[in-house]
Amino acid sequence: MKRARLLWIPALLILAGCFSPENQYGRVWESARRTQTVLDVTVPPNAPSQSNIYFRVTGPDEKEHLGIDLIGARGTPVIAPASGRVIQAYTDPFYGNQVVIDQGRDANGNRIKTHFKHMDSQTVAVGDSVARGQQIGTLGNTGALSGGLIHLHYEVLQEMRYGRFDQVDPNLFWVDGPGKVTCYDPGRDWPEGPFIATYPVVCR
Ligand SMILES: [Zn+2]
Repeated sequence: MKRARLLWIPALLILAGCFSPENQYGRVWESARRTQTVLDVTVPPNAPSQSNIYFRVTGPDEKEHLGIDLIGARGTPVIAPASGRVIQAYTDPFYGNQVVIDQGRDANGNRIKTHFKHMDSQTVAVGDSVARGQQIGTLGNTGALSGGLIHLHYEVLQEMRYGRFDQVDPNLFWVDGPGKVTCYDPGRDWPEGPFIATYPVVCR
């Protein structure tokens, strides 16, 4: 009993460190970088940090996280990463309030969908057309698998063979290039055409 209580102290110190102001913007958390193997991710100083990144380890030590987690305050707008059409908006006990957008095709002609989980609310409905930067929901921690952390779990799904979709690394698809997180800016000219993404939460 006593030992269990003592273990809380380092755990709380780690949590406090994660939430320090300098950790909330402009970085991938150190705890996530340990799982990063290939892609070097740069988060601009005004962009919400990534508390976890995409990884997929097969074999005996199988583990995976098939999206990226973007942190922020409850109610922060979640925005469409590119123009598309809302094909699902629903809630389940594990991933909470969710939206799925059909994003058309990527530069290689593969169909792309994006999936947003743990939102506090959805602000779009099935059938809605959305433009890049348009709000689709708000940041929250709904669903048991959010772990209580207020964050957006964001996935990019690419059509594989036989019409099956599979998650790929969202950090590969930013407008400014793979690994180069690109904030949405309403004053910038954005490319039309094949799917290429801007950050799905607003930057400060
Ligand atoms: Zn996640």
